[in-house]
Amino acid sequence: MSFILVTNDDGIHSPGLACLVDAVSEGDPVVVVAPDRNRSAIGHALTLDSPLRAEEIRNGVFSVDGTPTDCVNLGVHGLVAGKPSLVVSGINLGANLGDDITYSGTVCAAMEAALMGFPAIAFSLAAREFSIDDLTRSTSVVRYLVNTLLVSGLPEGIFLNVNIPSGSINGISLTRQGKRHYGEGIVQKTDPRGRSYYWIGGGDSGFEDIPGSDCNAIAAGHVSITPLRTGFTSESALQSMADWPLSFTMD
Ligand code: MN
Repeated sequence: MSFILVTNDDGIHSPGLACLVDAVSEGDPVVVVAPDRNRSAIGHALTLDSPLRAEEIRNGVFSVDGTPTDCVNLGVHGLVAGKPSLVVSGINLGANLGDDITYSGTVCAAMEAALMGFPAIAFSLAAREFSIDDLTRSTSVVRYLVNTLLVSGLPEGIFLNVNIPSGSINGISLTRQGKRHYGEGIVQKTDPRGRSYYWIGGGDSGFEDIPGSDCNAIAAGHVSITPLRTGFTSESALQSMADWPLSFTMD
């Protein structure tokens, strides 16, 4: 039996997760395996040094005290019979553009699924809070893209990072990873016991204007679809580095 595996990094109670479940519920049965709390910016972390607990809070809905990548592993290998026909992650509250990709638990959950050989899409909403209107539009976008993927397929090792603009949608674009700017953003304060502590703030301070980028697409009110690959090797660098005089020997 195959099923659609749904996860996120904002936690099992996120309205974005409920929206995503609703959007994919017309196809195969849906299994939800999601973190029991917000694990945003946990990246591709895998829990190896402690046990994981999965509580089935409703039929086919599992709350896990682990990371999004843990959830994909449990969803594929442990909790239910069969394998996913598709893995979707999100809908994240906040965009995942440019440099965000490797910090994002939302995107890395999709990457984990792609590493296992399953078609996978990460969805993020470029908003600071969920609104009914944005979630309604997002449902339509998810349905459209999932149907498109099921018809057209994806090349091996490729997964999709999809960002949805807040407000009216002016179009849909294939994009490349852009470049976001973050403020210096480390705040130093003093705790009640007189010791310094630091808080990484990194307020958003815009993005580089790169035509065809995910950042530009979202700024133009377009849905952004960036195909990403699981293999990080640069083929062009392999070729350009071929003339490095490499001949290391131990003395
Ligand atoms: Mn998140």
